[in-house]
Amino acid sequence: MAFIDNILQTPSYGWQDEKGELIKPTKKQLWSEAFSRINVFKDKRNWISLTSWLMATLMAPFVYLFFVHYFSWPLLAVAIVYTFIMISTHGTIWFHRYCTHKAFKFSHPIFRIITQNLAIKTFPEEIYVISHHVHHVKSDMPGDPYNPKGGLLYCMLSDVNHQSINKELSEADYKRVAFFMQHTGVWINSYKQYQKWGSVASPVYTIGLWFLNWAFWYGTLYLIGGHGLATALFTAAVVWFVGVRAFNYTGHGGGEEKHVHGVDFDRSNLSINQARPGLFAGEWHNNHHLYPGSARAGFLPGQLDLAWIYIYSLYKIGAVSSYHDSKKDFIRKYIAAKQEKEMVKTSAATRNELTPTN
Ligand SMILES: [Zn+2]
Ligand SMILES: [Zn+2]
Repeated sequence: MAFIDNILQTPSYGWQDEKGELIKPTKKQLWSEAFSRINVFKDKRNWISLTSWLMATLMAPFVYLFFVHYFSWPLLAVAIVYTFIMISTHGTIWFHRYCTHKAFKFSHPIFRIITQNLAIKTFPEEIYVISHHVHHVKSDMPGDPYNPKGGLLYCMLSDVNHQSINKELSEADYKRVAFFMQHTGVWINSYKQYQKWGSVASPVYTIGLWFLNWAFWYGTLYLIGGHGLATALFTAAVVWFVGVRAFNYTGHGGGEEKHVHGVDFDRSNLSINQARPGLFAGEWHNNHHLYPGSARAGFLPGQLDLAWIYIYSLYKIGAVSSYHDSKKDFIRKYIAAKQEKEMVKTSAATRNELTPTN
C-alpha cells in the first residue's frame, strides 16, 4: 500500500468499493462513525478527535451568554467580521499556508508562536495538517478526507470521521507522518508515545496550549470590552469552526464541475475560486491547488489576498525570513501564454484577410 493511502485511519464504511468507486455512507453511518471516533472509553487514542469536538462544545456557554445576556447589534457586527475575515484569514495563514504547506518561514520562533495564537483556538493543528496532504494528492477521489462527492455531511463530519491519523502505523511510517508537523512547534510524540496516544501531537501540549490560548483571549477581550465582547468573539469562533467544514464542500463545487472559464485554471480537480472565501480569507482555492506551496494565492486582478498581506508585512518587518510566491509563474503559464496564443491567432486571421484569394 502506498504511504499516502496508509496515513489516515480508514472509516468503518471504507473509502472505496472493489471497483474503486467512492463509498457513500448513509447519514446514520456518518453519525455513528463520528460518535465512535470520539469515544475515549472505547479507545483512549480517540482523545484528539474528542478534543476537537470538546473545544466546540465548551464554547456553547459563551454562545448562550452572548445571545441571552450581552447581545447588541454592534457586538454582532464585530462577531461577523471576526468569523468571516479575522479567524478565517488566520486559518489560511496558520493552518493552511504555514503548518501544512510550509509556504513561508519565520525568522524566530516567537513570531511563529504569536501567529499561531492570533486567534481563539478551535482545533488542534494535527487534525488539519496531516489529512490536508492527503486531500491534495487524492482531491475528489476515494480517500480524500473531505471528498465533496460524499455529500455535505461527509465533509461536515470529516474532522472526526476522516482526518485522524492511522493508529497502526509502523515506526518508519510514523516518523514520515510526524515530519509533516516538525516545523510547527507542536510537541511531537515519540513512537512509543504515539502507540499509547494514537496521535503525533502530545496531549499535554495540546490541552495546555488550548487552556492558555483561551485564558489569554478571554482575559484580553474582557479587559477591552467586558464579557460582551469576549462572549461575542467566542461565539464567532465556534461559528467559524462549524462553517469551515462547509468550505471543504463548496470549495470543490459541492462535488460538481463548476469551473469558470478565465477564472479556474486547474482542471485536474473540482476546486474553484470563490469570491467570499477568496476576498475575506485569501482562499482562492483553485489557484491554491495549482500552487499549493505559494504564500500568495490571489493571482488575478481583484483577487485580494489578506493572508498574503499579513505574510508579506511580516517579511517586511523581518519576522518572516523567506516565502514562496508563485504569482509570476502563474501569470507566465496561464495568462501570458494564453495572450500570446490569442495574438498569434489574431495576426494569422488578419494575414488571411489580407491574402488575396482567387
Ligand atoms: Zn482543495
Ligand atoms: Zn492546501
